[in-house]
Amino acid sequence: MTGTLTIAGLGPGDEALVTPEVTAALAAATDIIGYAPYVSRVPPRARLTLHPSDNRVELQRASEALRLAAEGRQVVVVSSGDPGVFAMASAVFEALEDAPQWHDLSIRVLPGVTAMLAAAASVGAPLGHDFCAINLSDNLKPWSLIEKRLRLAAEADFAIAMYNPRSASRPEGFSRALDILREAGCGERIVIFARAVSTSDQRIETVELRDARPEMADMRTLVIVGNSATRRVGRWVYAPRQVR
Ligand code: SAH
Repeated sequence: MTGTLTIAGLGPGDEALVTPEVTAALAAATDIIGYAPYVSRVPPRARLTLHPSDNRVELQRASEALRLAAEGRQVVVVSSGDPGVFAMASAVFEALEDAPQWHDLSIRVLPGVTAMLAAAASVGAPLGHDFCAINLSDNLKPWSLIEKRLRLAAEADFAIAMYNPRSASRPEGFSRALDILREAGCGERIVIFARAVSTSDQRIETVELRDARPEMADMRTLVIVGNSATRRVGRWVYAPRQVR
């Protein structure tokens, strides 16, 4: 049988947010590859090999997936949320650059509900106007670039979705990020701390930026900083569609 490589997003946690397309790919798989907590979301069954790995070995994991698919296996690489958002899809294409012999493999990327969309929906519509997404982890880029992007995003008045707010290697980074936004005059903006969205551990907190504390976020939190027009209506938070 011809091998295939599918890179699939499992959504933010709730089974109801796994797309039918991803469910079908998982049902047809012979091998599941990914970071251990994500692989563990796929129920074991006969003739399915699970390959859990550490989260620091993305390229190795991507090459292994390509090799298994080239051998004729039905391989699914799993990410949480969407696989193209700070996740495995880029790693697979990076590995493919060094492996021209695999360029004709059948590869598909299946989208998933990324954390910022689930987080936004849980409070209303804070991404209803222009926004950007920034990964606050400095594992794969210098911290100076993160600071520059935060400053410019604040200046451009984007709503800002922040992934990986508390990087394990730089726990003080998020505190610095909040300071940068305060220095940029965003103290009155609404900030949403959305933790473990769509799971039984979900916790949502909404505060003004000047009252935000670094401890409000951990690695399971998605932080959304509103734009200057973001406001509350009842218990909801939304960005108006029109900005003058
Ligand atoms: N590919 C994933 C993102 C991976 S980076 C996606 O599209 O969602 C991991 C970061 O995503 C976490 O540090 C956190 O900021 C965010 N995240 C993932 N799942 C989440 C959830 N259920 N609730 C809140 N944030 C989540």
